Amino acid sequence: MLVSDTESEPLSDEADEAEQPSVPDPARAQQRLDDLLADLRHEFPKFRIVRKDSSRLQRTLHYAMVIATFGRVRDYLDEYYNTVGATIYVTSEWPDKDPDDCYVLLRHEREHMRQFRRYTSVGMMLLYWLAPVPFGLAYFRARFEKAGYEQTVRASAEVYGLDYVKDASFREFVVEQFTTVNYGWMWPFRNGMEAWYDQIVDDIEQSGAYALEAEVGPLEEFSIEVPEIHL
Ligand SMILES: [Zn+2]
Repeated sequence: MLVSDTESEPLSDEADEAEQPSVPDPARAQQRLDDLLADLRHEFPKFRIVRKDSSRLQRTLHYAMVIATFGRVRDYLDEYYNTVGATIYVTSEWPDKDPDDCYVLLRHEREHMRQFRRYTSVGMMLLYWLAPVPFGLAYFRARFEKAGYEQTVRASAEVYGLDYVKDASFREFVVEQFTTVNYGWMWPFRNGMEAWYDQIVDDIEQSGAYALEAEVGPLEEFSIEVPEIHL
């Protein structure tokens, strides 16, 4: 089921204009985010950002998530971002987030918006949640999230530099999304996921597509999202 346009009030697309002391050049970070938002609006005319806690459906999904994960995921509304069609649902923290953090998140979510466009909502429902099984070996969910998290890694390197994505804790964070309860144990093959991650980082390093200056990112504040649960 898709969210109706009347269910939630869209938020402003503009990120917080306040000073971001953790970022050396906040103006450049804001410009990078604004450019991406413009690209998204151009590629997806219906693109919008909506706060999850303003959506009745999202609150319902919160309870579905609690049930589906046997009570192990209880922070759905507060911690997770997700995408339905061209709508990205965000947490209440969104307006105060660092522009660089928003940029990395949107790079990930753009992949899901493209997947929705390619496979349609019905296709995404079937493939993302059911094919071939909902938990344990969710091949298509893993495939879709690989596309998303590859962009998470690439965008992080562009913003925070190569050392950031080479950091063992960040690598572990990404790999764990596939191997743990976070996405329903969608692809619990740690060695394969680590090799996949390392290949992306090798490619980033060889291509030089990373920030040269040592911009220090908030390593403890990795952003987590899951795309939509369809009911
Ligand atoms: Zn994702």
